[in-house]
Amino acid sequence: MGMTDEDGWLRTLEALLLPNGCSSCGRATDHPPFCRGCTPPPAPPVPVPPPRPLAAWTAEVAYTDAWKEWIHRFKYPGSGLSSLDPAADAVVLALVRAAARRVPATFVPDIVVPVPLHRARRRERGFDQAALLARAVAREARVKAGLRVLERRRDTPRQVGLSRRERRRNVRGAFVARRAVPACVWLVDDVATTGATLSEAARALLCAGAHQVIGICVAHTPPGRNDARFETPLPSG
Ligand SMILES: [Zn+2]
Repeated sequence: MGMTDEDGWLRTLEALLLPNGCSSCGRATDHPPFCRGCTPPPAPPVPVPPPRPLAAWTAEVAYTDAWKEWIHRFKYPGSGLSSLDPAADAVVLALVRAAARRVPATFVPDIVVPVPLHRARRRERGFDQAALLARAVAREARVKAGLRVLERRRDTPRQVGLSRRERRRNVRGAFVARRAVPACVWLVDDVATTGATLSEAARALLCAGAHQVIGICVAHTPPGRNDARFETPLPSG
């Protein structure tokens, strides 16, 4: 993949966002993005098997409490450059790099691909945060980031509040690969719940030549008693 204007723009942006101190209090730290005092409590993701056709998936934290706030700040910094949120970017990029380090060593990536926003949403937000995530992972893995490999053809309604089955239907056929892809693809997104979006994007990648697709997310929504993520089991008998 050749250099594009977007690559140059992201590189400039990332240079501005290099973390210098604790993302929370700003004090110097030897283990960014936080100092010891500000590091949010560890919140391991729920260990569930990957949704098909993913070969594996990882997430660094549960999508709760402080992590939810950081991710929200990362995703919705407001409009315009003046409202960029370097602290949130430092935190979330550190999380996605850590999630990538959880991928089993057998899945060596050939390319890192973000789950793209629909272009209408990208216009609305100003830029695509998923591209920042993919670039951070790709740089650490020393492979290319395929920022334009996947295209979101439909601007799908938000998944919040939908059941597993509704989510699957909601994203069906939403993605298309615009070019052939190599064997092992690391697919990057911010938050996974049922994995319906990752699954659908993975399908498009497998159609385009991938043999294995690994999902890498910043966070995973933990199952809750009152959420409709999992289909209600049929009553027995
Ligand atoms: Zn601090």
